[in-house]
Amino acid sequence: MSRVYNFSAGPAMLPEYVLKKAADEMLDYNGTGESVMEMSHRSKEYDAIIKETEAMLREVMSIPDNYKVLFLQGGASTQFAMIPLNLMNKNNKADFVITGQWANKAYQEASRYGKCNVIASSKDKTFSYIPELDKSKFDPEADYFHICQNNTIYGTRFTELPDTGNVPLVADLSSCILSEPVDVSKYGMIYAGAQKNMGPAGLTVVIVREDLIGNAMDICPTMLNYQIHADNGSMYNTPPTYSIYILKLVLEWVKQMGGLEAMKVHNEKKAAIIYDFLDSSEMFSATVSGKDRSLMNIPFVTGNEELDAKFVSEAKKAGFINLKGHRSVGGMRASVYNAMPIEGCEKLVAFMKEFEAANK
Ligand SMILES: *Cc1c(COP(=O)(O)O)cnc(C)c1O
Repeated sequence: MSRVYNFSAGPAMLPEYVLKKAADEMLDYNGTGESVMEMSHRSKEYDAIIKETEAMLREVMSIPDNYKVLFLQGGASTQFAMIPLNLMNKNNKADFVITGQWANKAYQEASRYGKCNVIASSKDKTFSYIPELDKSKFDPEADYFHICQNNTIYGTRFTELPDTGNVPLVADLSSCILSEPVDVSKYGMIYAGAQKNMGPAGLTVVIVREDLIGNAMDICPTMLNYQIHADNGSMYNTPPTYSIYILKLVLEWVKQMGGLEAMKVHNEKKAAIIYDFLDSSEMFSATVSGKDRSLMNIPFVTGNEELDAKFVSEAKKAGFINLKGHRSVGGMRASVYNAMPIEGCEKLVAFMKEFEAANK
């Protein structure tokens, strides 16, 4: 058996520790004689799994006690509607920064429920940078202020959070959660689809300040109401039981790696290996420059579409898969989430050097 290096933007690689432990426990979890997949979510064994997962996430991310942790379904995309349905409840308006397709989808969906104000956009340059924010444009009466912290498709990230004062900051961390420490107390709410850095698809994690929930719009469906899920410990209905269990294993691995401080060092090292090469190469170049560069998603191009296609296809044959860029950007993208080992980045760069020499 040989495993490839998977540079997919998501679903993404998982740590070997996680896959092996899940395999070991597949037929018989902890002497129960059953797989976690087969277990009743109301059983005491499963109750212990979901509680431990939450406790470990709180520990790893230092989540303050006045925040609820919810394990939901529907992906980050369902949050685009859940957020306004639950939080746009005082003045029926919100502020948005448009830094890419996901940020724009959040904005468009919220616009169905209230007045949405665009503070800034980087659309003019294919979202290749994080725009400067003019604080005088922030609406002090907005019910929330939304950002997409790491822009998966374009490879940019906020390195500084907007100072929104009393307006709760709501952030999509789908592609950067657990990649470095964040100060949860600076946010009203954080959300993330699990399939980039937390586990398999099917689980969506919401971390929300408890005073913000409980005033959903009347039209809010029961299943989309944060309060319902909070009151029921994420068990109003059947939660994505297996994905939550895998998140628990991922968190065990993050702790073994030394927690989020160590994860940050690990990720900075990996990103530097690739960016340093891109900055010195005559064939390849990064599409994002400067401080806005993402640690997780690294888009790059040769400037020649045929050569890009040749590179993607040869890379695949060499065991580096899913390097094709998003259709809206073209070129290539190397997503190097937590589980991508350093040697995966080193070997990719060695392969790129060979390709460059052979295709001068
Ligand atoms: C992948 C991604 C999404 C979409 O997630 P789904 O779980 O597929 O809905 C949203 N936002 C960001 C930043 C993403 O990377």
